[in-house]
Amino acid sequence: MSPDKIKKTARIYALQNAITFNGKANSKAVIGKVIAVLQKNGFSPKEIIPVVNKVVADVNKIPLDEQVSELEKKAPELLIKEKKERDFSLPDLPTAEKGKVVTRFPPEPNGYLHIGHAKASIVDYEYARMYDGKFILRFDDTNPENAQLEFYDVQKEDLCWLGIEWDKEYHTSDNLDKHYKLAEQLIKQGDVYVCNCPPDEVKKGRYHGKECICRSCSPDKNMDIWKEMISSSLDCTVLRLRGDMKCANTAMRDPTLFRIIEKEHPLQGDKYRVWPTYDFAGAIEDSLSGVTHPFRTKEYELRDECYYRLLDLLKLRKPYLMEFARLSITGMPVSKRKIKPLIEQGLVLGYDDIRLPTLRGLRKRGILPEAIKNFVFSQGISKSESNVTFGLVEAANRKIVDPVARRYFFVNGPVKLVVENAPKIKKSIDLHPTDKKLGCRTIKTDDTFYVQKSDMEKLKTGDVFRLKDLFNVKIKKKNKETVFGECLGEKLISGSLKIQWTTDNFVKMNVFIPHVLFKNEKFNPDSLEKIEGFAEEAVSKIKTAEIIQFERFGFVRIENKKGEITGFFAHK
Ligand code: ATP
Ligand code: MG
Repeated sequence: MSPDKIKKTARIYALQNAITFNGKANSKAVIGKVIAVLQKNGFSPKEIIPVVNKVVADVNKIPLDEQVSELEKKAPELLIKEKKERDFSLPDLPTAEKGKVVTRFPPEPNGYLHIGHAKASIVDYEYARMYDGKFILRFDDTNPENAQLEFYDVQKEDLCWLGIEWDKEYHTSDNLDKHYKLAEQLIKQGDVYVCNCPPDEVKKGRYHGKECICRSCSPDKNMDIWKEMISSSLDCTVLRLRGDMKCANTAMRDPTLFRIIEKEHPLQGDKYRVWPTYDFAGAIEDSLSGVTHPFRTKEYELRDECYYRLLDLLKLRKPYLMEFARLSITGMPVSKRKIKPLIEQGLVLGYDDIRLPTLRGLRKRGILPEAIKNFVFSQGISKSESNVTFGLVEAANRKIVDPVARRYFFVNGPVKLVVENAPKIKKSIDLHPTDKKLGCRTIKTDDTFYVQKSDMEKLKTGDVFRLKDLFNVKIKKKNKETVFGECLGEKLISGSLKIQWTTDNFVKMNVFIPHVLFKNEKFNPDSLEKIEGFAEEAVSKIKTAEIIQFERFGFVRIENKKGEITGFFAHK
C-alpha cells in the first residue's frame, strides 16, 4: 500500500469529521478512524499519524460547503451515513404528555418569513405532531407601527409552502380587552405603576439602578392615569412592572408592559392607543391559549424571569419555556429587520431575491421545503450559537434533487464549433445517468455546435475531446469566433475531456447565480452574477418551477415566461 492510500483515506475521514463538527475536524478522532481502517492492511500508527495531522490541517482550511461537496464527490456514502445519523428526531420535551402538548408559532406580521422562522415553526409544529398535540399560529401584532395587513396572508402562504398546518389561528390584537383587564388587576394589586418620565430618564434609571418618583404613586392614582392613557391624548406614559431596579438581571428593572402607540392598526383600526409589549403579551397569550411548551430564541433568556413573575402575579398557569439558538447563516441576513432595508434601498430586487434567506427567495432558487426541514432537524434545538454556512442547506437540497433532477446541456459562454465530416444523426440521450424513468430527449445534429469557450481555451490544435454522448473531435484550427474540428468516431477514448454542447438550435438564456450578500459585514456588490449562455433546445419545453441539472454547471430552477427561459442557480 502506498502513502498515497493513507492520504486518500485520511482525506475522506477528515472531511467527514469536519462536516459533523461545523467545518473543523479533530485530528485525534480522524486518526482513530484511519488507523481502524488501514491497520489491517499492515500500516502502523507511526506512518499514519503524521499524514493524518497534515491532512486535517488542510481540510480545516477549506470552507464547510466545499468540504461537503468534496466528500459528496469522493465518498458520498460517508456523507449519507453521517447525515442519516444526524437526521434525528427531536429530543423529548420535559414534562410532556401525549395528547396534551400545545405549541405555537408567533410571527409578527411585519415581513416575509425567512429560514430562521422556518426553524422555529418546524420545531413548534413537529413537537405538536410528535405528542399528538395542538399547534397554534398566533400573529403577535401588538405593535401597530410594524404590523401590515398584507403580511398576515403572506406569512400563512409561506408556512403552507413549508408543509406546516395549524390547528388554530388567531391574532394577539384581538385580545387587547383581556390584556387591559389583567393590567388593571396588576394596578389594583400594586404590582405595576404608570410612569411618565422621559424615555431617556427611564433608561438612565435602569442603568444606574435608581427608582423614579412615579414608582411611589398609589394604586388608585395609577388607575386614574391608566384610564386616561387608554382614553385620552395623554402622551409619553408607560405602565411598568414594579420589579427591582437593582436586580442583577437588568430585564427585571421595572420593564415596560404597556406603551402608547398612536397609529392605525391594520385589523383594529384606531380602537386602541395603548399596546402591550412583548414581555406582557407573550406571557399572557402563551398562558391563556393553553400553550404548554413555548419556544423562544436564546436572546430572550434574561426575560424569562419577567415572564414567570407576571404569570405568578396574575395567578395564571405557567407554561414550560424552551429556548434554542437563533439561526444565523454566514453572509446572509436572517432577520426581517436586516432584510427590509436591503429592499427599501434597492440593494436586492425584492423579498424573493435569490440571495435572501426568505422562504420566497429560497423557493425561487430551487430549495425545497423538505430540504429546509432536514436542515432544521440536522441543526437541532441546541442553545449554543449556530452560525452555519449555507452549504448545509445546499447539501440537504442536493440529496433530494440529485436522484430526480433531469440533466441537460448548458453552454456557459459559447463559441462556435464546426466539425467537418460530422455525421448527420438523431441521437437519443438519457435525461438522468441512472434513472431511466426520467426519459430521454432526441437531438438532431449537423456539423455546427456551440461549446464552452473556456473549454476550448484549454485545448490546442491537434488535441482530442469528446462531445458528450456523441463523438470525438480533433481540433484542426481555432480563431476568435470559431473552432474547426474533425470527427474521430464514436468509440470512447479514455482520458479525453467530455464537454457539453448544443447544436445551432439552441435556447438563449440567462442564469442568475447568488453569492453571499455580506462580506466582512459589508454589502457585496457582486452578490448577483448573471451568466449568459446557450441551453439545448429541449430546455425550451421545461415548465416554470422544474429543478434541473445543467451538467458540469449545477442545479437550476427554471422559469419559463412565454418561451423566455431564465435559470436560478440553486447549488453545484
Ligand atoms: P426578525 O428580526 O426576523 O423580525 P423576530 O424574532 O423579531 O425576528 P418574529 O416574527 O417576532 O421575528 O419571530 C417569530 C418567531 O420566529 C419567534 O419565536 C422567533 O424566536 C423565531 N425566529 C425569528 N428569527 C429566527 C431565527 N433567525 N432563528 C430562529 N428562530 C427565529
Ligand atoms: Mg419581532
